[in-house]
Amino acid sequence: MRKAKTTAKAAAPSASKDPAVLRMETILTPSTTIVGNEVLSDVLELEKPRFVVDSDRYLNMLWEANPDMHELLRAAESLTAAREAVYIFLERSERKIFDVDNEFHILEKATVREAIRVFRSIIGPINEKRTQVSALDCLWKLARDRREELQWDVSAGFLMEFIHLFRGIAGKSNIYREHEGIKRGLPDFLRLEGRAAALARCEILDDMAGTVRKYFRRYPSGLEPDIVTWRRQNRQRILRYFGGSESDWSDYRWHLRHVIKTPEPLLELLDVSHEQKEAVRKAARYRIPFGITPYYLSLMDRNPAIGYDHAVRAQVLPPLDYIEQMAGHRQDRKTVFDFMGEYDTSPADLVTRRYPLICILKPYNTCSQICVYCQRNWEIDECMAPDALADDAQIERAIQWIADHSGIGDVLITGGDPAVMDDALLDRMLQALARVDHVYRIRIGTRTPVVLPCRWTPELVDLLARHHVPGRREVAVVTHFSHSYEITPEARDAVQAIRRRGMGVYNQQVFTVENSRRFESAKLRADLKSIGVDPYYLFNMKGKKETRRLMVPIARILQERKEEARLLPGLDRTDEPVFNVPKMGKNHLRAGQDHRLVMVMPDGSRVYELHPWEKNISPMPPYNYVDVPIYDYLEELAARGENIRDYRTIWYYY
Ligand code: SF4
Repeated sequence: MRKAKTTAKAAAPSASKDPAVLRMETILTPSTTIVGNEVLSDVLELEKPRFVVDSDRYLNMLWEANPDMHELLRAAESLTAAREAVYIFLERSERKIFDVDNEFHILEKATVREAIRVFRSIIGPINEKRTQVSALDCLWKLARDRREELQWDVSAGFLMEFIHLFRGIAGKSNIYREHEGIKRGLPDFLRLEGRAAALARCEILDDMAGTVRKYFRRYPSGLEPDIVTWRRQNRQRILRYFGGSESDWSDYRWHLRHVIKTPEPLLELLDVSHEQKEAVRKAARYRIPFGITPYYLSLMDRNPAIGYDHAVRAQVLPPLDYIEQMAGHRQDRKTVFDFMGEYDTSPADLVTRRYPLICILKPYNTCSQICVYCQRNWEIDECMAPDALADDAQIERAIQWIADHSGIGDVLITGGDPAVMDDALLDRMLQALARVDHVYRIRIGTRTPVVLPCRWTPELVDLLARHHVPGRREVAVVTHFSHSYEITPEARDAVQAIRRRGMGVYNQQVFTVENSRRFESAKLRADLKSIGVDPYYLFNMKGKKETRRLMVPIARILQERKEEARLLPGLDRTDEPVFNVPKMGKNHLRAGQDHRLVMVMPDGSRVYELHPWEKNISPMPPYNYVDVPIYDYLEELAARGENIRDYRTIWYYY
């Protein structure tokens, strides 16, 4: 029997007297707050900005990026005068790009327009009020060499943002000038005709295809023969350790009985860093949910120096600071870590609703393994917890709630992981849902194709297929692969078994630092399609301090979409990049009208105002989001051996 949920919402944070203030302290807070009566915001968790190490060099770069801007800021006697002068300057700069004769490259003009729009927004007094930060004040004081009066210590990330923004406003982003094809003027194929034009165009396209192929080779899937062999060896090692046989390996019950929840097997079967050892020991000591199936463990390379399995490890090996955050909030976990505001969007026990036609049903509160960045880490108590199943009466009431709400057509059963439930129980629940006339789709949200593919027995597939009635009701599986390295012959077979019965399999990818390198997610999409999984969503990762080191700035999502996903055939890039607004649901990131950059904070993080999906249908306040600084993200990539120059256009995605 599942424990009754008794946790009340924590009181609103008290550190700030003015609700319109986005605060600077490093704190954890329970939920989204309303600021200034018109904008929703998570309370900010800004670290104290670091001092700029080489401030003079960065400052020189800043003023060289746009000497006119430097001059007018230096000449302004007050912040008000500086603001006025910048507005006038931006107005003139914008008009220049509409002149018949100007020095800008035709494509650079779009960058100028965007940069001007963004800078106008940043210097807007309303955005300073909302964020309680004035980037303009920082720039003005820096220009007048009054650093000792700075209210905030600005970071390298802050200066880098403005170096690029100023270059953009001056029409010197160099995105296009550096490109050889652009230097030559119009590409040859546009001047030529017929076969000659086509051949010239092919040269350009071959170049791009070569780039895609070159990067794809960096991210092998688990279908490659060498990797299949390594994993066979891993499997034998794991079976030896647990005293299992080859037939046990294909029995999901054996895997569930041997889920690794203590440090010992892990440390004996795998080489892990000192920090990871400490983290898993602490997880066990503080009873922080932690678990890995033997199958998923076999996807990790014995020798981590090979460098392919980073995403697999990161999925389940919790970092030390994550464990410390979780341990520090064991008592108030249900309020502190519910960053999606699920508690506030549950109209009935086990039900979550954020959209008109969809609801989530959560009958089972555990999984066969625990993901580090799980958005339900506030309510999952233990991997394969024996008391994780809601009782019959609770499930009946939840289904009755669905029956009473004729608007609901699409029910996502998730959790926890419903595919880890007993077949008979799952069948009973599907039968009950199938009796609700207005339910035309049932989705099973499960990670088992990735972490326990042998769970997809013919019996389980049959069970789902019985409720999949084309023209009446669809049953689909929604899963969560995060890297090509997770795609294995076993996963392929599980997916194909489902698809052969006419049911679709879709993937929801979380975009993290582990799968965000150049073309890393593009390769995942291509590999998913090759085994029969359709990419569905690409989630911006949200969370708090406990998972911050995995987070990727929104600018990288936009860059990935434009410069990598776009090179794939349309049938490979079927996923939509989204930002999940707490309490309100998914906001599409590709649509410029749905988000706006409103401030750059002293630590270099951008603040975005995200407009809810329903804004033109039912008025809802926007939501302020403080992103991770681009500079910090690039530092992380550099530490992983990436050439940062490959990402240089990221600053121009807003
Ligand atoms: S499978 Fe889903 S619900 Fe379970 S731990 Fe992972 S992310 Fe959370």
